[in-house]
Amino acid sequence: MNKASRIFCPALITPKNAVVKPTEQLSRSQKLLTELGLVKSGSNGTYQIMPMAQRSVDKLIDLVQRNMQLAGGQKITLPILTPTGLWKRTGRLEGDISEFYMVRDRSGKQFLMSPTHEEAVTAMLATNSPISYRQLPLRLYQIGPKFRDELKTRFGLMRAKEFLMKDMYSFDVSEETARETYAIVSVAYNRLFQQLEVPFVKVNAATGMMGGSVSHEYHYVSPVGEDTLLQCSSCGFAGNSEVLDSQADSCPSCKSRDLKDVRGVEVAHTFLLGDKYSKPLGATFLNTCGKPQTLLMGCFGIGITRVIAAALEVLSTDQELHWPMLVAPYDVCVIGPKQGSREQPAAEVIENELLLNVGELCGHQELLHDDRKELTIGKRLLEAKRLGHPLIIVVGAKAVQQDAPKLEVHLSRGEKLELDLSEALKLVAEHSHYKKSLLKGSFQPDKDESKSQSVGHQL
Ligand SMILES: [Zn+2]
Repeated sequence: MNKASRIFCPALITPKNAVVKPTEQLSRSQKLLTELGLVKSGSNGTYQIMPMAQRSVDKLIDLVQRNMQLAGGQKITLPILTPTGLWKRTGRLEGDISEFYMVRDRSGKQFLMSPTHEEAVTAMLATNSPISYRQLPLRLYQIGPKFRDELKTRFGLMRAKEFLMKDMYSFDVSEETARETYAIVSVAYNRLFQQLEVPFVKVNAATGMMGGSVSHEYHYVSPVGEDTLLQCSSCGFAGNSEVLDSQADSCPSCKSRDLKDVRGVEVAHTFLLGDKYSKPLGATFLNTCGKPQTLLMGCFGIGITRVIAAALEVLSTDQELHWPMLVAPYDVCVIGPKQGSREQPAAEVIENELLLNVGELCGHQELLHDDRKELTIGKRLLEAKRLGHPLIIVVGAKAVQQDAPKLEVHLSRGEKLELDLSEALKLVAEHSHYKKSLLKGSFQPDKDESKSQSVGHQL
């Protein structure tokens, strides 16, 4: 069980009447994360993730890994530093390199602090080339920091200079099997985004600096998004306005003319790369006739820290964080009586019984006990609500009243219930059950992957 008194959560206390000079543009979720002590600003554009938010990051990593493994992924770790020579060979140092961090070692050799790892993983394959067709398809993924020297960092974790990514790279024998891989990973992405229960749209995308032929983006729709999406009000279809013909005045899917502009935060991106990297870097396999042939690649990214920041931005209010259920730092927060109150001795008996039972139902690690009894219930409840715990159970004066003792249960989004102990426990059990069903649930794959644009979860 976790005790609130022991959690390092350095809340930002701004003195009244203080003139706060914002150093960057804040979104409402970023403001709450900072004020509540979940995320701290490091140097310009970098962030320090504090223990409570780290729990959320770790839960998302677990969820992403589950889905990557269901898609046949194998986890690896590549160095953050990639020799710039590899990027010269693929031509990627010829464009705009102002966002790259470059460093030199003591011998003068130059490295990139990798913003992405196509070159590094392909070069690794090339050193083992040719591999046998029997080893293919190969789907390798990693989860680690990426670096981009953004001119304008904004909205905290949503656009930072260092961020956490899951990146998967696939290697196939043919265009056809590369497309199969693409479809399989896309199913995993759809499942993940459905499990997070934040409405998302999947749109056809430009391939940009990555190159390749097919590409999709997954977006959370939010006013702070940096991309403009064109969305159909009648069927939900959406496209990136970069890609959709700007003349388009009707929905390519249902022909409705009711299209509107919405802002999207890109949280994931998939690409079919072909041989753009494998050819110059010499990553090959031996085909069934024993002849070396160039590997065909795909790459698949998910912005881990960005998913959390953007999901909070979509779900939260100005006053309260609201988390996707599977990545909330804790499931249940229990608040006991105030030190020295009349009800304290009797209420603590109930509180202890509650803690024991709740811990068994949802797992002791998922239970936060706000044991700071020197604080009033009201103060702790306000903080718990701002932190957005899915279930908050208060053991106060009503818990010890003679007839029909009641616990106060606060659900995320303001709903308040008065329940007896067994009813409250039933609610905790239902919550855990629902989480399990989300993890196990079967989800609709894309109806037709070959249709280049499709809608994930209709808004
Ligand atoms: Zn439509």
